[in-house]
Amino acid sequence: MITIKHDGCIFCVGCSSVCPASAIEAVGTRMKTYPEKCIDCGLCVKVCPANVICLYKGVKDEKDLPAGAR
Ligand code: SF4
Ligand code: SF4
Repeated sequence: MITIKHDGCIFCVGCSSVCPASAIEAVGTRMKTYPEKCIDCGLCVKVCPANVICLYKGVKDEKDLPAGAR
């Protein structure tokens, strides 16, 4: 799954455009993620111009993120 540092997001929606799994979408003025759909491809990390996306391969639930990742 991915995490997004929302403070730094410029809301370009590039991540949502490239995601092959529909695991990110714009909701209101914020990007929302769907960890259960994420296939850990890393495309969103590559396209993010603000470098605010982190990929945690194999993690499917927020509670399993390493300490400090949220
Ligand atoms: S890592 Fe891939 S599947 Fe997961 S949110 Fe990013 S683009 Fe979508
Ligand atoms: S690609 Fe980065 S800056 Fe653009 S909407 Fe996604 S998280 Fe925000």
